[in-house]
Order: sequence, then C-alpha cells, then structure tokens
Amino acid sequence: MTGFTEVARDVYVLRYPVLDVNATLVVGDGAALLVDTLSTDAQARELRDAVRAVTPYPLTVVNTHHHFDHCFGNAVVVDADRPIWAHEEAARILCEEAAALQRELYPKWAPIDPELAAGLAAVRVRPPDHTVHLEATLDIGGRPVVLRHLGRGHSVADLVVHVADVDVLIAGDLVEEGAPPNFDDGYPLEWPATVFALLELASPATVVVPGHGAVVDSGFVRAQHADLTTLEWLIRDGHTDAATVDEVATLAPFGPDAARVAVRRGYAELAGRAT
Ligand SMILES: [Zn+2]
Repeated sequence: MTGFTEVARDVYVLRYPVLDVNATLVVGDGAALLVDTLSTDAQARELRDAVRAVTPYPLTVVNTHHHFDHCFGNAVVVDADRPIWAHEEAARILCEEAAALQRELYPKWAPIDPELAAGLAAVRVRPPDHTVHLEATLDIGGRPVVLRHLGRGHSVADLVVHVADVDVLIAGDLVEEGAPPNFDDGYPLEWPATVFALLELASPATVVVPGHGAVVDSGFVRAQHADLTTLEWLIRDGHTDAATVDEVATLAPFGPDAARVAVRRGYAELAGRAT
C-alpha cells in the first residue's frame, strides 16, 4: 500500500486502492486526527501502520459517514479507549443496524470482490462513541478542527471536517472524484444545498479531500455543485411532467446508471415516500 502524502502543512491523505477511498491524517502538537478508517480488519491494519509511519501521537477518529468503506476499520485502527466521532445518525445506524448491513453487504460484494466481501462479513464494527448534531470543534494538539453536518446529501449523516488553519476541507462522499457521486443512500434534492454550504466555507485556494479519488480544489467542487443542481431540477421538472425515470436519467449529468438511482430516490421524496 502507498502511504500518506502531505497535502497541506501536517495534513496527509492516503488514497487506498480498493474502492479508491481516502483516509486523512491531521497531526497537531502531541495529538493526531484520522478521518475515515477503510473497510476491513486487514485494510485497517495497513492504515494503522501507515499512520504510525507519520506520527506516534494518540489518535482521535472521525467517520465522515456510516458507509463501510469509511468506518469498518474503526475497531482495528485505534485502541478501544480512543474517541471516535460521527454524526449522531451515523452512530445510531452503526449501533443498531451494523449486523444487518453486514448481511446485506456480503452477497452484494461476493461476486465483485470476494476478499472484500469476506473481510466485511468478519469485521466487528465499533460504532462511534462521540456524536455531532450540527457542529463540534475538536482541539487536535492545538489545531482547531471543526466537524459540521451541513445537511443531507450523499447520506443522512454526512460530516465535513474543516482544518481551518491550513484551509483544508475533508468532504467525505459529498464530493467524488474519479467516479460519479453515489446516490444509493443519497438525497438528490438536498445534496446541492449541502455542497453549496460547503463551498461557503471554501476559498479559491482551499484543498478539498473527496471521499474517493484525487484531492481537488474548490473549482472542482463548484462544477460538481452545478451538475448536482442540474440533476435536482431535472428530477423536479420530470416529476411535474410525469416523465419516466429513464427519460430523465438520459438527460442527467453523471451518466445514466448513477442518475437512474438519483431520479428514483428524488421521485420517491417528491411523492412523499420515505427513502
Ligand atoms: Zn458513502
């Protein structure tokens, strides 16, 4: 595995090849923060070793959301007495529904990546024990790091991690590079407003760490926001005009496969059905 690369002063990103997912390390004076923990025990052991190649300091962990590739490494990557932060709904889901999620994940991933599927089934999920409603500020060895829930988007529980002293925003899967945004648990009618709120925190020089893919700038996020807004309005107009899911998806950004999922979920919301 490749190790961490410094993207701003004492902020490091590890881009893990399986699912092209990012973990981010923020190092302060005598303390460090790890954002996201990969998918399996084996991956988390690699991540822990990579962290220790950068810093010996005690770790605090943040999960940007509750999807497995961002939090199933929790139990292995840090000792049991270290805090793990997440949005309150992410913590609830991982407390109450982790076993059910694992049962769903195995048959989904077994045909695609048997090693990942077996690893996901074997994880003992450690839920976050510190929760964020809208905002919390951590002191990471003298560096203020702000955790914000800016609204629903990629999931019900997205957190954005702001390392303000070096103008870094860790966006989780609210921002995707190298693949379309994933709408499986998404809120396509709310996602644009949430990314707009993220952009309000950014300057032209901001370094943005997406959940997957290469580190980007605020110009990239602005373009993704424009595409998400286009998609939102295609869904709203399509619903008004009683267009089929496929009719809307063929017009949408991000390709028809991702867009079909988004349109279905948007239509369900507009019809008043729970998603
Ligand atoms: Zn996700």
